[in-house]
Amino acid sequence: MSMYENVQHQFTKAADLMKLDEGVRKILSITNNEILVNFPVKMDDGRIEVFTGYRVQHNNALGPYKGGLRYHPTVDIDAARALATWMTWKTSLAGLPYGGGKGGIQIDPKKYSQTELERITRRFTFALGDNIGPELDIPAPDVNTNAQMMAWIADTYMQTKPTAERSMYKHVVTGKPVGSGGLEGRDRATGFGVVATIRQWAKLRNKNLKGMKYIVQGFGNVGYWAAHFMAKEGAILIAVQDASGTIYNANGIDPEKLNEHATPNLTGVKDFPGTEAIDPKTFFGLQCDIVIPAALGNQITGENAGEIKASLIAEGANGPVDVTGDAVLNEKGIDIIPDILCNSGGVIGSYFEWLQNRQGELWEMDDVINKLEAKLVKSFNQVVACADKYKTDWRTAAYIEAISRIDVAYKQRGIFP
Ligand code: NAD
Repeated sequence: MSMYENVQHQFTKAADLMKLDEGVRKILSITNNEILVNFPVKMDDGRIEVFTGYRVQHNNALGPYKGGLRYHPTVDIDAARALATWMTWKTSLAGLPYGGGKGGIQIDPKKYSQTELERITRRFTFALGDNIGPELDIPAPDVNTNAQMMAWIADTYMQTKPTAERSMYKHVVTGKPVGSGGLEGRDRATGFGVVATIRQWAKLRNKNLKGMKYIVQGFGNVGYWAAHFMAKEGAILIAVQDASGTIYNANGIDPEKLNEHATPNLTGVKDFPGTEAIDPKTFFGLQCDIVIPAALGNQITGENAGEIKASLIAEGANGPVDVTGDAVLNEKGIDIIPDILCNSGGVIGSYFEWLQNRQGELWEMDDVINKLEAKLVKSFNQVVACADKYKTDWRTAAYIEAISRIDVAYKQRGIFP
């Protein structure tokens, strides 16, 4: 099942259960705008290559489109549609004044130099033109895009505006470096949020995270920071899988040392001293308490969900469990903190950055973390209460909460003309 079929299936299940208005269902079943741009870039050796970039804008009933840009070979229109739709639910559930968008370029960035990536990013921004904007559509980092790239996007977009107005456009993108209008703590916001929701789960289930064993798939921005905050809870990381390989140590892996090994030369987790390389297929079936998927979509499916022994899946990634995997996990009574709740710390952090830029303020790290936690606790409790009310799983409940807010906006404002 494709990611888009997956997200549509999840939407239909929630819409049926909440008896969603037929008209609103029609609007939300389809994306508002789909932008495809082909643009040329000069490579370091003088050759010209043409790249294809996507930006899908799913819905903006609650505010400007918001969502990341991904550079990965799996980026296509289907993936962009699915990820944009998830963003609509995520921003609504978090109570933010945003809609949902997503995009990217179908490339493997490892094949390009830094200077080439800079030109690709700047030319993509230029090609998108006024299809993005601080009050229209605000991109952010996602897989294989980072703060440096966001700074290039902001700079390129601002260059296209009159000199006297340029500084008003800084919030065209979030996830920028702190020196360029970025927010203290935006780097860790998603991983922090993942762990903040896991703490709420532990409280609800009367469990102690200290000594609990967990595994993480993906050791990039989300995976590393989630492991960093899990270590503060005293939980033990026993295995990590990324694009380079799968490593295991039953006695624990130090996330900080692993980060020093994996990140600087983009080597990944492979060959980390003190761990053994294991068969990637055995990863999700490892004996542990918590699984944190923090890489790509469709990783846990009907084929491997049955092997999972953990009692919680905390979805750091977007769409890591497909519909068939969901059915197996629900049947087994395994809790799932759904992506649109679990990884919403990132977009909440982005909202704080956008507000900070818009108001010309600078917020302190502690302030950011406290505000983030308060929002996540509120959303978590709303989802649990909604699941009790509708006697359904947390994913469907999160959708019902998210869709309800958009439904209200349509009811209040009506449909033009
Ligand atoms: P990243 O580029 O920093 O890291 C991605 C990680 O996934 C890397 O460790 C990579 O090796 C690994 N990976 C790639 N292909 C893999 C494969 N086939 N098997 C196993 N591992 C693989 O990206 P990120 O920003 O950490 O995003 C990770 C996930 O979290 C994505 O699904 C993204 O949409 C989601 N997310 C990110 C944010 C954010 O703020 N960055 C916010 C919300 C959700």
